[in-house]
Amino acid sequence: MEVEKPRFDLFLEEMDQAEGKEIEELIARSQHPLPDQVEWLEPGPRPNLLVTTIDKVFNWGRHYSTWPFGSGLACCAMEMVPTAASRFDQARFGMEIFRASPRQADLLIVAGTLTWKMARALKLLYDQMAEPKWVVAMGACAISGGTFAHSYSVVPGVNRVIPVDVYVPGCPPRPEALLYGFMQLHQKIERRSVRDEFILADLRKIVPGRSKRN
Ligand code: SF4
Repeated sequence: MEVEKPRFDLFLEEMDQAEGKEIEELIARSQHPLPDQVEWLEPGPRPNLLVTTIDKVFNWGRHYSTWPFGSGLACCAMEMVPTAASRFDQARFGMEIFRASPRQADLLIVAGTLTWKMARALKLLYDQMAEPKWVVAMGACAISGGTFAHSYSVVPGVNRVIPVDVYVPGCPPRPEALLYGFMQLHQKIERRSVRDEFILADLRKIVPGRSKRN
């Protein structure tokens, strides 16, 4: 019995015709160039425009990039140091490494007992920091003199010498407490206004040496 062979020539002819039809349709649809989908040169507001305030932008940047300068004066410093190490990792809050110079820092962490003899040096370091700047008093001694509050040689609170933004209580506070203090500081920074800085700058001109802030 003879088997009928498939007609490949007919099949190919059909394919050619179908392909030709598709090409004809494509040519008909492609008479004009396609428009640019990202018309970024077009004037006027775009849908991805973000409206905000200068205060928000400044505070957002400052909030996530405070550069700490540690003043380890006594035992509290032993808890401040591991806050920057891998276990507690203050870099998660955008704080990165401790700076070696007050001129490169905007956050002074006073950890430990401040004596009157040391107070002048601390004030000098604080004055060398550029504005805007913040201070964290870490531990009972830095907050109020702690156990040594009534001693002839101990300052009964760092805020007698420089303004303090955040107080972290404890004897000593653990690194978690210091991190919580940083989070409180972030909230304070977010409430700050650039306008206040001009007012404070004027205040400092009127009262030379005055470094107290809002
Ligand atoms: S608060 Fe306690 S741990 Fe901290 S410096 Fe004073 S005595 Fe030492």
